[in-house]
Amino acid sequence: MYKIAFIGLGNMGGPMALNLLKAGHALAVFDLSQAALKTLGDAGARIAASARAAADGADIVVSMLPASRHVEGLYLGEEGIINGLRPGTLIIDCSTISAQSAIAVAQAAKAAGVDMIDAPVSGGTGGAQAGSLTFMVGGPAEALERARPVLLGMGRNIFHAGGPGAGQTAKICNNMLLGVLMAGTAEALALGVANGLDPQVLSDIMVKSSGRNWALELYNPVPGIMDNVPASRGYSGGFGVDLMLKDMGLAAESAINAKSAVPLGELARNLYALHSLNGAGALDFSSIYDWLKKKGK
Ligand code: NAD
Repeated sequence: MYKIAFIGLGNMGGPMALNLLKAGHALAVFDLSQAALKTLGDAGARIAASARAAADGADIVVSMLPASRHVEGLYLGEEGIINGLRPGTLIIDCSTISAQSAIAVAQAAKAAGVDMIDAPVSGGTGGAQAGSLTFMVGGPAEALERARPVLLGMGRNIFHAGGPGAGQTAKICNNMLLGVLMAGTAEALALGVANGLDPQVLSDIMVKSSGRNWALELYNPVPGIMDNVPASRGYSGGFGVDLMLKDMGLAAESAINAKSAVPLGELARNLYALHSLNGAGALDFSSIYDWLKKKGK
């Protein structure tokens, strides 16, 4: 069992940290939200006054923050916590950030004698709660082997994508596809409903037909079709439109760098951007259905 510092206790990090506590690890936690800290404190974690205080004496630091700038702010520069970590500490960053940022943190860690893997996740808040996440790991194989028992406390599938940053590259490819699939699923359901179909019946048909995909199977965007998905609780508490927009922006950037063509990814990114501009940035990304559907239906 390890002494783990866990930084970032949001929709994903909160349940992931709870699962590490249940697995028997000793946790010190930090987040900017007092409510998030209280939930973990009530469950037995030590609440720290800062990220640096949480990391003090830790064997392993796990971070689950929104975007590149938060992760760089946590680890890099004079204020960054890498400075204060003991050589031999292992950093597991589960946030979805740019591969370049992940590589910058890995290089700074290496210079300080600290191991680092990028280990972004897939599986949504349901997967975080159930401890069934998929991890896409970039970094040295030995560091992944050290991390494996901790990752298995939060997820089921672990893939070694390659060297530093490779986990992030795999993740943004996956999320670009997810963004396209959700927009397409929402569009098809809205089309059916506008033409008089019951969305439950249409969902039942498509999930057993060639349009079947993750959104239809596990994350239906129409309110009331599935229990325990954001669509059935006012599109709250899932994967925010602005987070999806960030991930699709990372995909677009990496496409530009690699001279790769991503026409559907770019179109879907613009749909989420318009949806966010209309005020939906904090809602779950499946709310794209609500934007596309015929009003009053
Ligand atoms: P969230 O916004 O719910 O949580 C982020 C947490 O980080 C918040 O509690 C916030 O207070 C905290 N935070 C921000 N800056 C901080 C700082 N400097 N120090 C300490 N805490 C800080 O986001 P989330 O949905 O949990 O997503 C986290 C990451 O996981 C993102 O990179 C996202 O893209 C990725 N992700 C999310 C999902 C999902 O379904 N929500 C799925 C897979 C991956």
